[in-house]
Amino acid sequence: MSEADLTNDWILAETPDRPEEACGVFGAYAPGEDVARLTYFGLHALQHRGQESAGIAVADGHTLTVNKDLGLVPQVFKESDLTTLVGHVAIGHTRYSTTGSSSRWENAQPMVSSIGPTTIALAHNGNLVNTVDLRDKMKGKGFRFRSTTDSEVIASLVDYFTQQENSMRAGIRETMKRISGAYAVVLMSEEALYAFRDPYGVRPLVLGRLGEGWVVASETCGLDIIGAKYVRDIAPGEMVKIGSEGLESQQAVPAQKPSLCMFEFIYFARPDSVMYDCTLYEARSRMGEAMARSAPVEADMVIGVPDSGVPAAVGFARESGIPFGEGLVKNRYVGRTFISPTESLRQQGIRLKLNPLRHVIEGKRLIVTDDSIVRGNTSRKLVALLRDAGAVEVHMRITSPPVKWPCFYGIDTDTQEQLIGAVKTVEEVREFIGADSLAYLSIEDMVAATGAPHEDYCLACFNGDYPVDIPDSVKAGKLSLESIG
Ligand code: SF4
Repeated sequence: MSEADLTNDWILAETPDRPEEACGVFGAYAPGEDVARLTYFGLHALQHRGQESAGIAVADGHTLTVNKDLGLVPQVFKESDLTTLVGHVAIGHTRYSTTGSSSRWENAQPMVSSIGPTTIALAHNGNLVNTVDLRDKMKGKGFRFRSTTDSEVIASLVDYFTQQENSMRAGIRETMKRISGAYAVVLMSEEALYAFRDPYGVRPLVLGRLGEGWVVASETCGLDIIGAKYVRDIAPGEMVKIGSEGLESQQAVPAQKPSLCMFEFIYFARPDSVMYDCTLYEARSRMGEAMARSAPVEADMVIGVPDSGVPAAVGFARESGIPFGEGLVKNRYVGRTFISPTESLRQQGIRLKLNPLRHVIEGKRLIVTDDSIVRGNTSRKLVALLRDAGAVEVHMRITSPPVKWPCFYGIDTDTQEQLIGAVKTVEEVREFIGADSLAYLSIEDMVAATGAPHEDYCLACFNGDYPVDIPDSVKAGKLSLESIG
């Protein structure tokens, strides 16, 4: 998300042993409603997409006010804050940061800027791949930047082209022609709400209806929490404007091959969200069923690693006839391990997050479903934790293929040489994590579980087929292996 993600800072950054989402966005145009409160609850539902900072901007037709800070949504906003955010249009943002340098207030969103007498606020999920190039060119033309985010590059381009074209929609359209990568953006002026999505549709963005008002959100769970009705996805390359004249849509840039991030299905999105007409819970439980067919094993119980591994365990148990059990309890409010940046603290990470139920798993041969293995350290600790708690066998079943390629589209994975699936065989990974057996789901079975065709996804972290071209200078920072077996 930040420019630093595209430089060596990214490589040096401590990252958690799991891909991490980069942000959640929300927007509301609803005259007569308390849009600040709608946005607050929308952000609550999207909290899993980012926990470093939260922000809400609200406008009443004349004045645009923003409140944002580092922290979780309920830490940033008090009742008194929401009371002062009055208006009919609002946007909100939850941010996950991938580098220490991004723990800065300036990088929190929404980002506010001015276009002549008009004030705009912008919030962004995703990652541009041509940020460095654009920033260099723009700096050469006298642009100044306050933050290190690619979101500021988008805001600056919108400012510039809106003034050139004398139209916000034309300004956004010209911006979309120049930016490359993954983006789902909500933007507001004092009067109207805009939402636009990259031509590949890598990051999700949905449109909902709330009475006479409109809502946009990264996931449908952001609509559900406020009682908004899902209308449709914002299409790849589409821009919508919602104002006093209602909703106006245009295909701002030509749509390309749809490339929704497969990790939304595997792990990022909440299980109650719907993508491609499929509940994530159902997709994950079908992945578990497929896993039971492709890699059966004799065992006494199937457990899932909370939260995303649990639906797969339910599916595995359903298909295999082996009982499902709850063998791990999650410490829900401890936060994600990215708050423990040193290796020694990270050693404690899994015990901070997961507690085994000894009386459930003692003496049992366990099948354990989890969504992915990135570096392998977490899986290794998990297997040790279960053995310590009395499991006699631990059979890991991973409901995605080996992660072999880094992500350039706003997901915090490691460099390629840190991805255990890129440097070790399945048997070597099994040995490293200390499991009795290990199996991954095939790409075909994983995609089939979602009900949408293979062509509709980005699968680059599994197969290296990047839908949006990555400049060599950006690739060089994360791709360090000559070839992959
Ligand atoms: S590379 Fe992987 S994590 Fe990144 S957008 Fe594609 S599927 Fe998602």
